[in-house]
Amino acid sequence: MGHLKGQTAVITGGGTGIGLAIARRLAADGANCVLMGRNLERLETQAKTVERARAIQCDVTDSAAVEAAFEDARRDGPISILVNNAGIASSAPFHRMGEDEFLRIQDVNVTGVFRCTKAVANDMRTAESGRVINISSIAGLSGGPYITHYCASKHAVIGMTRALSAEWAKTNTTVNAICPGYVRTEMAEGAIRTIIEKTGATREQAIAELAKNNPQGRLLEVEEVAEIAGWLCHPDSRSINGQAIALNGGHSM
Ligand code: NAD
Repeated sequence: MGHLKGQTAVITGGGTGIGLAIARRLAADGANCVLMGRNLERLETQAKTVERARAIQCDVTDSAAVEAAFEDARRDGPISILVNNAGIASSAPFHRMGEDEFLRIQDVNVTGVFRCTKAVANDMRTAESGRVINISSIAGLSGGPYITHYCASKHAVIGMTRALSAEWAKTNTTVNAICPGYVRTEMAEGAIRTIIEKTGATREQAIAELAKNNPQGRLLEVEEVAEIAGWLCHPDSRSINGQAIALNGGHSM
């Protein structure tokens, strides 16, 4: 399958977890992938493991850095795929959640998506086949305790997805969101550590606690999320636009 041959795909937070799996999936379909993130050494190491990939350092909270990074990414031709994957999470009861922490999460998860999408707006409005894929979360579709800030950010990403897909409907670019439940990555490891610290649970009990959120009773693997991103990039997926695709083993809301 080489239907993405010659296309440039930028994946933010592409050096780890879901982002790296998506890069591998898009590269398998022929895309030239740019892994963007904060840790250049890690990105470069991972880029060597993905066909035709290169690494560019970029903190999505820094507007000037985002502009420069996307200019660099455009070196080999216009960007036709953007995967807004960079994200952070934390947890706290609402009454103890500071404004700083609330805003820190929005800066990466919401304004970061805004900044990166702005940086490719001209590429996307003129692309022959453009794709913006926003990695939201099941927390963008439903609420959960101790993650008001994260839920707000992931709901906002779905709002942006829907609005932009409507605005760009007459172009050849689609804008969609993928909304996974807990996926086995470093981010889920953070949630597991928090459960262990706060409750004294064993690691197995903590994983089981997270898995309860999924009707299939399991954590997702990164490849399952990557597969949906690959499918959204297929030319025959062009009528899928403005969707928030839940990946959580069933209806758990
Ligand atoms: P991860 O921690 O491995 O990936 C997050 C990536 O974002 C990392 O590479 C990190 O360096 C990068 N990043 C963070 N802040 C950044 C910044 N300011 N600038 C640039 N890059 C930055 O975890 P993951 O699970 O692969 O997360 C990827 C996305 O999936 C996130 O948006 C997350 O919210 C979402 N998600 C994760 C899960 C899960 O259970 N793991 C579930 C639903 C949604």
